[in-house]
Amino acid sequence: MKLQNPELLQQANYWDGLWRQSNSGETIEVKNPANNALVGKVPRMSRAEVASAIQAAERALISWRQETAQKRGQILCAWADLLLQHQDDLAEILTTEQGKPLAEAKGEVRYAASYLQWFGEEAPRNYGDTIPAAKPGQKILVQKQPIGVCGAITPWNFPIAMLARKVAAALAAGCTMVAKPAELTPFSALALALLGERAGVPAGVFNVVTGDSAAIGDEFTENPIIKKISFTGSTRVGKLLQQKSATNLTKLSLELGGNAPLIVFDDADLTLAVEGIMAAKFRNAGQTCVCINRLLVQQSVYDEVMQKLKTAVESLIVGDGHDEGVTIGPLINQSAVEKFQRHYDDAIEHGAELLCGDGKADGNFVKPVLMANGKPNMIFAHEETFAPLLIAIPFATEEEAIRIANDTPYGLAAYFYSKDISRVMRVTDALECGMVGVNETAISNATAPFGGIKWSGYGREGSKYGMDEYLQVKYVLLG
Ligand code: NAP
Repeated sequence: MKLQNPELLQQANYWDGLWRQSNSGETIEVKNPANNALVGKVPRMSRAEVASAIQAAERALISWRQETAQKRGQILCAWADLLLQHQDDLAEILTTEQGKPLAEAKGEVRYAASYLQWFGEEAPRNYGDTIPAAKPGQKILVQKQPIGVCGAITPWNFPIAMLARKVAAALAAGCTMVAKPAELTPFSALALALLGERAGVPAGVFNVVTGDSAAIGDEFTENPIIKKISFTGSTRVGKLLQQKSATNLTKLSLELGGNAPLIVFDDADLTLAVEGIMAAKFRNAGQTCVCINRLLVQQSVYDEVMQKLKTAVESLIVGDGHDEGVTIGPLINQSAVEKFQRHYDDAIEHGAELLCGDGKADGNFVKPVLMANGKPNMIFAHEETFAPLLIAIPFATEEEAIRIANDTPYGLAAYFYSKDISRVMRVTDALECGMVGVNETAISNATAPFGGIKWSGYGREGSKYGMDEYLQVKYVLLG
């Protein structure tokens, strides 16, 4: 890895303002998914060490919550500036541990910085309320206070952005945080911590630990100091955390898996629709929670859309994310490749028509696949594929499209393309999900509430709703 600032690659954990190794000396190896080369090692912290990090966050809470919101905001904005200043190095680390093309990695770093900036500006706007009282001579005041020490658990697919959008909101609210990144991609989180330290985040306010995920999850849910856990990851682990959080009634935000539909109606701008489909399906090699998993195309425009898509999919370039011009990097590991192949084989077996790709793998690399004649009973229509596999299902009527789109326990994002304003309003109302993109698939940004319903979880990240997740309402009656 060629870094202008090599110290950004930290092979240590950070808590209470110090960089540390585990007492046992045990480490976790991190490999580059493009070539399986060793990127580096991070400590495997024991549960007792994670408890120490949580205690540090509790000590730091006392002064951080009393700091002025302006000061907290200034530190977050300075942190955002440092991310932008070091975006080349951060992108290099991200591509090396995660695999996405460098241009996408830089985009993710800027996206991460936008959350620090936005919540830095939002911190001083944590307004309360006064409410006309029920009795004469009384006053009702409502204030929003930080919930306390928070745990964050993040996935490997957006290793810097998923953590930045949690820590930005938490720190703006006056909370402190202990974060556990995915063991496949810890270095982006550790680089984020290093820049936080340089931006002036006080010791103990933001802490990063690595180690056994189940043990850290148990410490987060069983330690009464932790008042809130913000989790982004699979629905399976989200459900587990919800069960375990019953012990302390720990508040949760769960940003879980998706199964997004994208519907192309016959009145749509088809060129715009194909651009949107390509961006939403193939970004990060199809490994995003808001990826299109089910493409629904109205029969009368089906052939035209498939032809345009075939040309676009054939122009994608697979390779190491560091290489110039590459648009599809490797999948994260072999189990991701196996899932891709299972969905591919099932679709072929049940009659889908192959237009591009071959379902074969070279290490963690797979060619992007496009198939026609998908059916709602194929595996891909029910399970998140998390790979560059796009299968289109033809439909006849609006009612049929909505029925298929909602036929899933997940409810994160949904998209559709139409120029008919009445249809836009009808379909927007009918879709069961937390976010709808109408004639647009780039829906995620710091100013908007990101999150799902049903098995995609609950809670929102970004926007004023994102800060509410880290605040609790205290009502005061003045007699
Ligand atoms: P995952 O297996 O659920 O892992 C996510 C995080 O949870 C990782 O840090 C993982 O640690 C940790 N973890 C695993 N088992 C745990 C346990 N028993 N207790 C506590 N933590 C535990 O998910 P993933 O495969 O990394 O990520 C992909 C999933 O995330 C997809 O389903 C995707 O849709 C979802 N996602 C959702 C959003 C959203 O905003 N809704 C955004 C991005 C991704 P280790 O990796 O170290 O084991």
